Amino acid sequence: MKHEDVVCPFCGCLCDDLEVTVEDGHIVGVKNACGISRSKFMSHGLNRVSAPTVEGKEASLEEAVRESVGILSGARRPLVYGLSSTECGAISKAVELAEATGGVLDNTSSVCHGPTILALQQVGESKATLGEIRNRADLIIFWGSNPTEAHLRHITRYSGTAKGMYVPEGRKGRRIIVVDVRETGTSKMADQFIKVEPNGDFELLEALRATVRGVALRAEAVAGVPMDQVRALAEVMKGARFGVVFFGLGLTQSEGRHMNIDAAVGLVAELNRHTKFLLTPMRGHYNVAGANAVTTWQTGYPYAVDFSRGYPRYNPGEYTSVDMLARGEADAALVLASDPASTFPVDAARGLAKIPVITLEQKITPTSMLSRVVIPVATAGIEAEGTAYRMDGVPIRLRKLVEPTEGVHSDEEVLGMILEGLKGGAEK
Ligand code: SF4
Repeated sequence: MKHEDVVCPFCGCLCDDLEVTVEDGHIVGVKNACGISRSKFMSHGLNRVSAPTVEGKEASLEEAVRESVGILSGARRPLVYGLSSTECGAISKAVELAEATGGVLDNTSSVCHGPTILALQQVGESKATLGEIRNRADLIIFWGSNPTEAHLRHITRYSGTAKGMYVPEGRKGRRIIVVDVRETGTSKMADQFIKVEPNGDFELLEALRATVRGVALRAEAVAGVPMDQVRALAEVMKGARFGVVFFGLGLTQSEGRHMNIDAAVGLVAELNRHTKFLLTPMRGHYNVAGANAVTTWQTGYPYAVDFSRGYPRYNPGEYTSVDMLARGEADAALVLASDPASTFPVDAARGLAKIPVITLEQKITPTSMLSRVVIPVATAGIEAEGTAYRMDGVPIRLRKLVEPTEGVHSDEEVLGMILEGLKGGAEK
């Protein structure tokens, strides 16, 4: 059976035009997908967690849930982390669970676009949907982002080469500029590559902002970029009909962090005195935007939320997972839809290895390997349905294409079981 308009549960592009063929309950073909997506669909059955485990030994689901309830209810400062690679129903349950345990709730934003959120909370944002950009943008700037390796279909679907209503020529109707610390696949297909010194983005953004404002800077070069080039770029930006800066971890994870985004917002605001200009973060996981959205509408805050006083408090730097684990503050963790043991800095990963960890996972990962409890779950978007939010905040419904292995439940269902156990314990 052929399923059309299937949504890809991998990156923030959340492509919704895939065609997936299922035979005898197995995926046998995927069309329109990029290489990463194809691998996710075709290999979703490989390297799976085959059964719940407690202390590395196979256990029943009931035993694993009971052990999880014991760990969480005995913890003084439990951490619920991950959320970005599952659907919104599960994220909502995770919020409830963090609240029920008086713990801290955090998602992968804290090691990714958290600085973007901090900056936007300070200075606002100028944004649009990817559809708007596809139909109108004639100047595309990728700043510290490399979609040819991280968001493979972004350029063809939404930005560089896509044919839009007011850009019918596609690539020929758009100018593409890459600002980065080194040449990348994206810079090779761009019209212009501007090489900035590592950690020089803030300086370059502020110089551009001043130049757009008409301030004559006396420097010969800024962050390794000759002043002539800075002035020329400012003119190109001002001359665009509809411009957009797509930025990535090159800005959020380099020196300055949220101040880099702050500077980018300032530049874009200045450009909007001359023309239409937008700033769009290249969100990574397919539903990290959903993790922020659900956490915000339930608690008022997008990530790093502490429930220890019975009401939500927000303070990235204090309640972010990396900080809590590196300081040895968290004494238990429930990890969902992410692999922090692979992605966290070493101090935080060590912190995680020292405490009892409950992991809800499909695959065997470094995090599942150090966990006291591992519970296999269905893959959202393949074995379970739900809603996800694209990088521009557009919600799209994920489909269920095949049944999960018997006895394997969705993230939302397993979290619901743990929550029930916690509430039952509280009532006794
Ligand atoms: S670009 Fe991203 S969302 Fe689109 S098919 Fe590839 S991995 Fe999936």
